[in-house]
Amino acid sequence: MKACTKCGVQKPACDFYTGRPDCKECKKKQVGIRGRVYYQENKDRYKMVRHQHYKKNMAYYNAKCAKRRAVLLRAKPPWVDDKEIEYIYSIAKERGLVVDHIVPLQHERVCGLHVPANLRCIPQKINAWKSNKLLSDELPIYKKRTRADEPEKEITL
Ligand SMILES: [Zn+2]
Repeated sequence: MKACTKCGVQKPACDFYTGRPDCKECKKKQVGIRGRVYYQENKDRYKMVRHQHYKKNMAYYNAKCAKRRAVLLRAKPPWVDDKEIEYIYSIAKERGLVVDHIVPLQHERVCGLHVPANLRCIPQKINAWKSNKLLSDELPIYKKRTRADEPEKEITL
């Protein structure tokens, strides 16, 4: 056991990086804070670099947007109420959230629909992590219920 110089808590050696007096948790926090501060101080430079990348690769970004639009169009049944979808997006904006497709639009096995029942408002951070995962991809508990001969059953929609 070793006491962390930052938080003062007694922790086993595995909670420390080799040769560090502060614990992993404190070290991570420190790095996180430094990263955020650095970003805030260099925000304009980051913005410029992103913009330059966009300018240089406009065809790529345009193609990506066009594909997204096409997918959305294909995933939206004609009976969908646009007003309802607009409302969900307005709620997300109001609360600083983003709209997530619960069943992803672009996935190797399924195509979710662009309908209110498949939309939810979640924080950007979670959305970035979720990406185009299916619920069954991230929750192995669903997979336990599947029969080996019917692997597709794991998709509970
Ligand atoms: Zn600590």
